[in-house]
Amino acid sequence: MQMPTLVMKFGGTSVGNSEAFQAAAGIVRSARGDWPRLVVVTSAMAGVTNLLLEGAAKAVQGQVDVFHQAAARIAAQHEAVIDALLVGPRREQQATAAQLKQEIGNLLAEFTNLCQAFSVLGEATPRALDALSGLGERMSVRLLSAVLEAQGIPAQPIEATQLIVTDRHFQDAHPDLAATTLSTRRVLEPLLAQGRVPVVTGFIAATPEGIPTTLGRGGSDYSAAILGAALPADEVWIWTDVDGVMSADPRLVPEARTIPVLSYREIAELAYFGAKVLHPKTIRPVIEAGIGLRVCNTFNPQHPGTRLVADAGSKRNGAIKAVTAIRKQSLVTIEGRGMLGVPGVAARTFAAVAATGTSVPLITQASSEQSICFAVPYHAARQVVAALEEAFANELSRRDIDRVWASDEVVIITVVGAGMQHTPGIAGRVFSVLGERNVNVIAIAQGSSEVAISLVVAEQDAETAVKALHALTT
Ligand code: ADP
Ligand code: ASP
Ligand code: MG
Repeated sequence: MQMPTLVMKFGGTSVGNSEAFQAAAGIVRSARGDWPRLVVVTSAMAGVTNLLLEGAAKAVQGQVDVFHQAAARIAAQHEAVIDALLVGPRREQQATAAQLKQEIGNLLAEFTNLCQAFSVLGEATPRALDALSGLGERMSVRLLSAVLEAQGIPAQPIEATQLIVTDRHFQDAHPDLAATTLSTRRVLEPLLAQGRVPVVTGFIAATPEGIPTTLGRGGSDYSAAILGAALPADEVWIWTDVDGVMSADPRLVPEARTIPVLSYREIAELAYFGAKVLHPKTIRPVIEAGIGLRVCNTFNPQHPGTRLVADAGSKRNGAIKAVTAIRKQSLVTIEGRGMLGVPGVAARTFAAVAATGTSVPLITQASSEQSICFAVPYHAARQVVAALEEAFANELSRRDIDRVWASDEVVIITVVGAGMQHTPGIAGRVFSVLGERNVNVIAIAQGSSEVAISLVVAEQDAETAVKALHALTT
């Protein structure tokens, strides 16, 4: 029998400054008692990935000052932690601190060189952006590993380009679990056997040829799940800055409560429909490998947080557990009385949308088949409408399709709770509280999932709607 294995992931705020690093190190130390085989995954320090990507975007537009400022800020952010936690009177402490500053400087030189190149070329390819946006994690693993070592915990920084093998879909790469399992075990097992804690970069991976890729924004949660499945681990714990998964985004609804137990289906819907607390792709690898998943608070580690389980046993009561919102969406509608007779409209519609690289979070279709309506990110709406006008140019000219149009900015609001759709009266309550607050529901999608109902409202109604629906959660 393999000894218990735990993967724990620290998010950006959990390594946001020296106090957070201290808290994270304390958590690692106390977990080592129960978990002799412990792997740590970390995000970049809070704000770093955004600074890197903003620097790159401005460089493409020819502005070179922004990335230099970003590099200086990122250097200062890391050096403050080094100065607070690693510099000491002993010579080897000074040597470690100096070497770490040097390594961070080298990584930042990669950043400024890439940005310089973008400013000359006037463009940045997705491949180059992946090499750039992963630099934050490459810095934070070195720092966290050194902080653990300084506290007497044997640790080793590891770049996940050595572990997670993906396809070439830059910025949203898809892992090859078989190849990842082989390389993860090859690299991590010897360290675990020695009792060392591998401190692995979240977010980044590489193609089989070693070209750096990333798993998508917020992807460090997914990294932890992939590594958990590859080892395999018994549990994956996600350390963040709130007390687990809550009944709503606490930034939007201050009275949101922690949900102690949630089923995988429920968290999958929540994550997919905007609860940023867990990356939506995190769930599948852990379900498939039968791994326990927890979300807990780095800054309140005694709180049990949320435990994710196969079945939360809540099918019977069918209560609403949580409310989420995805902002900055647009509803695209194709309508026309002639659509009834046009073959394959839906298939052609979504093929045309897919060709623009746009994802569709929600689809609704009226039973009359005289319109198809779906949501896309607001920034992509114009491009999607243009693609549809091209795909249906003949039908539009014959007036089988009258028009294709995109709405103003809307918000998708989703209420989640297992068994909800089979509980009489829940949908009624959802619509009556919205009616009482004068919130107009523009579209509804129950979808095939039994655990969620989504509705679309205008941007200006979103906050009222989320708060009103939150009052229904139990
Ligand atoms: P990390 O850097 O740790 O990955 P994120 O910022 O990605 O942290 O996710 C945590 C944040 O998600 C919280 O601070 C909270 O504001 C937000 N959030 C949104 N919806 C929820 C929810 N239902 N429960 C908990 N947090 C949520
Ligand atoms: N640092 C990456 C991001 O900001 C990944 C993560 O934090 O999960 O998107
Ligand atoms: Mg996150």
